[in-house]
Amino acid sequence: MTTRWIDYMTGGKNKHVFVFGAGKADGNASMKNLLGGKGASLAGATLLGLPVPPGFTISTEVCNDYLESGGLRNELKEEAKKALKFVEETMGKKFGDPENPLLVSTRSGARQSMPGMMETVLNVGLTTSTIPGLIAVTKNERFVYDSYRRLITMFSDVVMEKGEGIEPEEGHGIRQELERILERKKKETGCATDTCLQVEDLKALCEEYKVQVKKTLGKEFPDDPYEQLWAAIGAVFKSWGGARAVAYRRIENIPDKWGTACTVQAMVFGNMGENSATGVAFSRNPATGENKFYGECLFNAQGEDVVAGIRTPNPMNEESKNDQNKDLPTLEERMPELYKQLVNIKNKLEDNVRDMVDLEFTIEEGKLFLVQHRVGKRTATAALRIAMEMLHDKVIDEPTAVLRVVPEQLGQLLYPILDPGAEKKATPIARGLPAGPGGAIGKIVFTSEDAVAWAKKEEDVVLIREETSPEDIEGMRAAHAVLTARGGMTSHAALVTRGWGKCCIVGATGLDIDTYNKTVVIKGKTYHEGDVLTLNGTQGLVYEGELPMIDATENPRLKEFMNLVDKYRRLGVRANAETPEDARVALGFGAEGIGLFRTEHMFYGEGSDEPLFLLRKMIVSKTHLERLHALSELEPFVKQDIKATLEVMDGLPVTIRLLDPPLHEFVPQSRIGQERLAHALGVDIEEIRKRGEQLHENNPMMGHRGVRLGITYPEIYEMQVRAILQAGAELIKEGKKVHIEIMIPVTIGAAELKTMELIVQKVYEQVKEEVGFDVPYLYGTMIEIPRACMRAGDMAQSAQFFSFGTNDLSQMGFGFSRDDIDSFLPEYLDRHILRNDPFVSIDKRGIGQLIQIAIERGRKTRPDIKLGVCGEHGGEPRSVEFFHEIGLDYVSCSPYRLPIARLAAAQAAIKEKRNK
Ligand code: PEP
Ligand code: MG
Repeated sequence: MTTRWIDYMTGGKNKHVFVFGAGKADGNASMKNLLGGKGASLAGATLLGLPVPPGFTISTEVCNDYLESGGLRNELKEEAKKALKFVEETMGKKFGDPENPLLVSTRSGARQSMPGMMETVLNVGLTTSTIPGLIAVTKNERFVYDSYRRLITMFSDVVMEKGEGIEPEEGHGIRQELERILERKKKETGCATDTCLQVEDLKALCEEYKVQVKKTLGKEFPDDPYEQLWAAIGAVFKSWGGARAVAYRRIENIPDKWGTACTVQAMVFGNMGENSATGVAFSRNPATGENKFYGECLFNAQGEDVVAGIRTPNPMNEESKNDQNKDLPTLEERMPELYKQLVNIKNKLEDNVRDMVDLEFTIEEGKLFLVQHRVGKRTATAALRIAMEMLHDKVIDEPTAVLRVVPEQLGQLLYPILDPGAEKKATPIARGLPAGPGGAIGKIVFTSEDAVAWAKKEEDVVLIREETSPEDIEGMRAAHAVLTARGGMTSHAALVTRGWGKCCIVGATGLDIDTYNKTVVIKGKTYHEGDVLTLNGTQGLVYEGELPMIDATENPRLKEFMNLVDKYRRLGVRANAETPEDARVALGFGAEGIGLFRTEHMFYGEGSDEPLFLLRKMIVSKTHLERLHALSELEPFVKQDIKATLEVMDGLPVTIRLLDPPLHEFVPQSRIGQERLAHALGVDIEEIRKRGEQLHENNPMMGHRGVRLGITYPEIYEMQVRAILQAGAELIKEGKKVHIEIMIPVTIGAAELKTMELIVQKVYEQVKEEVGFDVPYLYGTMIEIPRACMRAGDMAQSAQFFSFGTNDLSQMGFGFSRDDIDSFLPEYLDRHILRNDPFVSIDKRGIGQLIQIAIERGRKTRPDIKLGVCGEHGGEPRSVEFFHEIGLDYVSCSPYRLPIARLAAAQAAIKEKRNK
């Protein structure tokens, strides 16, 4: 026995199986950690009096134990058998009984929904000895054999192949082998769909299936109900460790130790004939958020058929109609009474959960059952609309509304959509269902692997698939957009991309895809890998080539939501910006200042020719005097550059960082570049080359940069400080407001900072004297080297503020080059050596602690010291939450991430209050 198991047995928590049914339940809706989302919500729905087929849930703790010990313990089996008895009594049937057999499903369910990533087996308990009994009771031989062939398919695939870790050759998995037999049978009998197969066909099919299982997997299909049950439960637990589930957890940051629960539930059948059905519905539209019941169903089918996208599902009601299903009868038309019951169930669930729910239902011979429900995945547009409408309807309070939108998802609302004007003039080449919102342009690829490979090369790609399967998860993640030829709004592709808010069109008509040759034929024209398509995921339209896009920020609902967000946030937000244009964008996104103005930006890109020339002139100067001369020529450019942004910020704080990169970055490396510079300066090319060589460093990021330049060439920093203060003085003279913060980069201790402080003060006095009035400023430093964190107490004697440069701090703290981490990081993540990329999400336990030490020491010396972050982490939600918790004053990030940072900060404050 593992110690963990003993803990359960002795810790008073030795309950692993929780029953639900007939209005009673051992668990309840709040027990997600133990029962998984599915188990908890089924218990909750049962307690609400909803028609849930009875069952029991084996807890997530058992999954961990199962994976550790490699099997189900006898004690657990005994507990499960007792629970099964309860189910048998509630249903009036017995598991394995030849007269009136009970069949069950085994389903996975983690704390957080992982759609399609783990396994389910239906119809467990059907064997040669229970088949005659079920036929006698149901008087429906066709249904029984249809169920049996489904069991053989699912069980052999999930339990006997995947569960055993067998990796068949592409296209030769047992499921594909069986599907080929089914297709052949349909051809032989002239059937277009499987519902047209007759009893004798299905009977023969089941026999052929069993022979094939033996042939492919080398084992008989089990004919003992309990053998089926234990193996199916085991396979559910094993699927937690399956490649798909693991990949999904990496993307969604779900801890491995959570485990999945396994729910064993009495089967109800949607495939018992034309007055039976199965379906999936959302209490509100998951794409738009509109408050209309929305869903799809299939008559005479089992649940897997809806999700697999095999047949085009019928719309639930008028609101659920689209191009593909508009001619099919709705559930409301065919079964009005049951539809009404379903609406009531939906209302009850929404009232109870106070959120949009998605639910799966089955109608067995005119009787409606709720098979499962959960909080529904939705696009960002829908999340925003649902949160604000529920707030206005007083269903939820303000903090809850703020928590309802995922910060990363918010980013989607800021991304471009297709320009409606241009779209009007263009003709779509294909139409499909609008599964994921927004617009996207990309080069087409046909496999998940290609999507990943092209994305690595920084190409925007559209992944085209017949339909997606959970195996495609990484490619879908890497792609800019996904386009499928099959599947409905509840197909795998739709569910997954909607959760991510990725542009996606499913079930697009007229796509003839050839994955092998990497082509797709649309309206007679062949498109090859790499050809460009444009997708409108909000309407489901596909265009050839590239269409223009526009911003989607002027959204009144978003503005209202962001005002609410700001009401609950404590942490300040600033932008990393160094041009008037960026500053304006930042203000539009709610910046309360600039947290990082990188002065070197003026030497790169557009308009940089002249300042760069003067900087180079300064760098190659042979004497101090020459250097001073070059710097004085450069100064007006620096002043103008800073003034323009200070003016836009209109009195909000602007943290201006003095020169940071090593000088050699600015010396031309190519012969032509060196020749040009030599010519312009009237010097010999050899001189330029030599200067370049002198400046060369083996580790430039740890070299002559930042404050080290200020120490060795104080005239450079002097010039910058003078330009900054003069820019401020000119604006003050013009009657404008300025709030200047001068920041010294890459410092390691108090002495450097003191040396620089003297220079800054000297220049300040000079400028004051020159202009005749005071130009106030704050003096501070970046903290981006571990030693600086340790010396923060002393450094705070000079510094009035610290800004944590978490990019360099992570680089120096880990000893990982921030530019070359790709060669080993993926393996570190795969092998769980690191949980996250430390340059994306702050490493709380290491780098985070360094920051905490610096905060504590800095505040001890100077209690009112201003503390912020300006590394990339300032716009990453989990890092922002951490920065809130450790008491920083503000985060600074790129303008487009500001709304995300604001929301993450507000959520952190709300969660903190709730946890108190
Ligand atoms: C940092 O190091 O975190 C930082 C913001 O500075 P830079 O990225 O310019 O090195
Ligand atoms: Mg830095």
